[in-house]
Amino acid sequence: MNILNYPVSSLKGIGLQTANRLQKLGLCVIQDLLFHLPLRYEDRTRVYPISALRAGMTTLITGKVEFIDVSDRGRKSLICRISDGTGFINLKFFHFSASQHNALKLGTAISCFAEVRFGYGGLEMVHPEYKVLTHPDECVTENRLTPVYPLTEGLSQNVIRKAVKQALAFCEQDSGLLTDWVPETLLKQYAFPVLADAISTLHAPDESISAIALQNGSLPALKRLAFEELLAHYLSLRITRNKTKAWQAPLFLSGSTTKIVTDHFIRSLPFKLTNAQQRVISEIEADCGLQHPMMRLVQGDVGSGKTVVSAYAALLALTAGYQVAVMAPTELLAEQHYRNFRGWFENFDTQVMYLTGQLKGNPRKAVLQALEEGTAGIIIGTHALFQDSVNFNRLGLIIIDEQHRFGVHQRLALREKGQQGSIRPHQLVMTATPIPRTLAMLQYSDLDISIIDELPPGRKAIVTSVIPAERRADVIDRINGWVEKKKQVYWVCTLIEESEVLQCEAAENTAERLTQALPKVRVALIHGRMKSADKDAVMQAFKSHQIDLLVATTVIEVGVDVPNAGLMIIENPERLGLSQLHQLRGRVGRGNDDSFCLLMYQAPLSDTARHRLGVLRDSNDGFVIAEKDLELRGPGEVMGTRQTGQMHFKIADLARDTDMLEIVQQVGDSFFTHSPQAIQPLCDRWLGTSTEYSEV
Ligand code: ADP
Ligand code: MG
Repeated sequence: MNILNYPVSSLKGIGLQTANRLQKLGLCVIQDLLFHLPLRYEDRTRVYPISALRAGMTTLITGKVEFIDVSDRGRKSLICRISDGTGFINLKFFHFSASQHNALKLGTAISCFAEVRFGYGGLEMVHPEYKVLTHPDECVTENRLTPVYPLTEGLSQNVIRKAVKQALAFCEQDSGLLTDWVPETLLKQYAFPVLADAISTLHAPDESISAIALQNGSLPALKRLAFEELLAHYLSLRITRNKTKAWQAPLFLSGSTTKIVTDHFIRSLPFKLTNAQQRVISEIEADCGLQHPMMRLVQGDVGSGKTVVSAYAALLALTAGYQVAVMAPTELLAEQHYRNFRGWFENFDTQVMYLTGQLKGNPRKAVLQALEEGTAGIIIGTHALFQDSVNFNRLGLIIIDEQHRFGVHQRLALREKGQQGSIRPHQLVMTATPIPRTLAMLQYSDLDISIIDELPPGRKAIVTSVIPAERRADVIDRINGWVEKKKQVYWVCTLIEESEVLQCEAAENTAERLTQALPKVRVALIHGRMKSADKDAVMQAFKSHQIDLLVATTVIEVGVDVPNAGLMIIENPERLGLSQLHQLRGRVGRGNDDSFCLLMYQAPLSDTARHRLGVLRDSNDGFVIAEKDLELRGPGEVMGTRQTGQMHFKIADLARDTDMLEIVQQVGDSFFTHSPQAIQPLCDRWLGTSTEYSEV
């Protein structure tokens, strides 16, 4: 057996307790240590003169003790001032022993390593790592950068460093231990080092390697490992997808009866479907005719008409005698879907129902019963749909709107509900946040993707301008003129902090001030903390033009549709992501006239912020905007990984490594035909034995 597969406890210095702690980090066998890559590095390769120190630097210094005392001011602490001739710095210890105090006698030479901060008496180091020097000229530097590893409670850097060293030594002795699954041609093409070399470079970078190269990702060893990690993730998602294909799906027949029903549906719509909508519909129809569950993501810009496409899919399920669940991220949006679906299915023999967390008591019981007994054909709602009390009779299709707003687990939970023996329901997820193609292939490689790349005819472009907040008075004038023309306006207040309360307060204040500034304008307010019935009432009033100016928080981001509202002011747009701004802006431009969006920023703007707002001014294409957002902000913002926490990488960085994604996909696909034996080992190596990922 390969020694790298021995448990970590077989290493020197690792007892049962340490092994248990390592296991918490997913480090079970020796090989795991090799792939436990440093978070960052510490530089003890040079001694800094104290005069060159700045707050925030983490550095090695030397000096002689020139003052020491225990201070009782505030928290009791040992204060020790050292000087190296160029300047002095205070060392501060809150926990200290008498022997420590005694050892730091005046005139003693010591070396220290820690982060430099600002203290009351100038620069200081708190609890530095330090060593008393036997000779003032003693060499204290190291010739390599020191790796800093992710830890867990009870583990020290030293324990991990020693363990990793032993693991690396095994590989050095026998280069055959660590199989390099990346094809040689590829290594040559990209000048990647072989696996063992790349691993040892990252754990123990030699003198030639700078901290900067390790940080900016230009180092071939790092690139190579990032590539391999992305590859492993891609493979694991492909495996998930293959598993889905092994499940059975509810059968949606596509015979002549279905055709009569679907034709009737299409004829009863108040508009003609666009070519793009028709194309996506036929892709969905093809999926539903297969043995395994559909897993399809429909991407389409705001206003491209995704909802009706999902309604068509719902029709297929209903015709086959199955139930449909439609899940939306907000009540406002769920309500709008509810109204739309009820309208579209009015002349069809099915019951459309609505469920949110707000629904209580008997009405709620009635809905749950109708779902369980199967009398409800379509259920539309929010997160409330996957609560324990909800049981379906025959769930055949799950539709999830604005999928990026949901966590992976929520998606999973809903699917579990629909499981009937070996049959799992079809899934259709929709998003208006276009995901750059390269990212989509990694993030969603368990899904098939359809794109609605065409807006319904007659939509006018939205004219966007970027203006400073000092021109508020002009903006208010413009609102007056606009409202005189019997048109409506949105005024969007963006997030102040992460706090919803503060956001709502800000919107309330703005609404008040605008009411005063615009006496002839009917102003109303809508925000996330209002009761759903109140929100509904305000939205209805806005739709029926009893309100001219709607002051809103970002709750209106998704869904709402009021064609007569063609002017939107977004305050402090610099606080939001481009894709989110694009979504907000999509609320206007729904009528037949020109519409306008004013991005009213707070000066001064950073260069990046100026650049970002410029992107929005110059483009109305969600895909272009998403690509730019990725470039300027990084993938977390684009994909909403912050919310859903889907991807955790040890070393890869989607923004930095975007250039490799395409090749990852190509190589990954070829593994299934050319080196299937490599797939499991690669996934184990990088994803460990955690199966959470592949279950989703
Ligand atoms: P989104 O893709 O942003 O979810 P919606 O599905 O809400 O877009 O559609 C936006 C608006 O366009 C709705 O009022 C919808 O009824 C309308 N719509 C959808 N398809 C068409 C079409 N082919 N022609 C005209 N209007 C359409
Ligand atoms: Mg929508």
